[in-house]
Amino acid sequence: MAELTGTTRLAGVIGAPVRHSLSPVVHNAAFAAVGFDAAYVALEVAEGRGADAVGAMRLFDLLGLSVTMPHKHDVVSACDMLTSSAGALGAVNCLFWSAGRLAGDNTDGTGLVRGLQGELGVDIDGRDCLVAGAGGAARAAVLALAGAGAATVTVLNRTVERAHVAAELAGPRGRVGSADDLAHAHLVVNATSVGMASTPTASEVPLDVDAMAADAVLVDLIYHPLETPLLAAARSRGVAHQNGVAMLVYQAATQFEHWTGLDAPIETMMTAARRAIGSTS
Ligand code: NAP
Repeated sequence: MAELTGTTRLAGVIGAPVRHSLSPVVHNAAFAAVGFDAAYVALEVAEGRGADAVGAMRLFDLLGLSVTMPHKHDVVSACDMLTSSAGALGAVNCLFWSAGRLAGDNTDGTGLVRGLQGELGVDIDGRDCLVAGAGGAARAAVLALAGAGAATVTVLNRTVERAHVAAELAGPRGRVGSADDLAHAHLVVNATSVGMASTPTASEVPLDVDAMAADAVLVDLIYHPLETPLLAAARSRGVAHQNGVAMLVYQAATQFEHWTGLDAPIETMMTAARRAIGSTS
């Protein structure tokens, strides 16, 4: 990291818990790579105090804040303006200054779309997409896939009522489906937490890779572990696949671009993220 001086700007991530966050490693690597005079720290903010943290951003004229659970919803009302994705999702993961006003964005969904384009050359336009899950990550994915021109966005979820809420984010192209839809999807996204390290479901496979078309692309939003049982199945069957590191890095890239006005150094951020995940696996 460059020397901290009186001109160094401060950015950070607010959450609880937040000490495990990869964001400081990724953003500080990015600032250093482009020589931007800023430092990024993890800020533990107790549940219910998200709006106070937005006030602190104004008070200290912070460069920007990333927002993680449990604050993504309660910072919404403290922003001066919202991007269309943050408004539609009712959730903010990035605070930045826009012409002197404090803006809230949600960069998760565009992170998925940019990661697919940037790392696998996948263009969503006209594609049939299937999203498993209906939580925050799934909803961001559904909205962004529809926004990127998906022909259809089919949602599968254990709790069907939540699947309907998620599918509505894709408008008329969204619907709730079943496992039979796997065979017709060009892109399949696992946005459930099944397969995450440190959960009781870590060894479960949430989707049947054998039911997917051979030329489909599979994304698992999980990045810890780097290879989930689902991704291992895709690899052994020769299905194109991507883990959650790309979405993680590209959603951070959009945040970096909001804060600095510069293109994000993707390769640097990718290397920093992989190294940090590798050291905790
Ligand atoms: P969330 O809001 O808690 O949603 C969890 C989803 O997983 C729900 O749809 C839930 O279904 C489903 N689920 C949980 N356990 C299940 C089980 N045993 N069987 C079937 N479905 C199950 O979590 P989230 O924030 O959306 O995150 C979801 C995943 O995405 C996590 O693994 C997270 O690490 C990952 N993620 C990655 C990124 C990235 O940048 N790569 C960003 C955000 C999240 P119900 O609705 O039925 O409970």
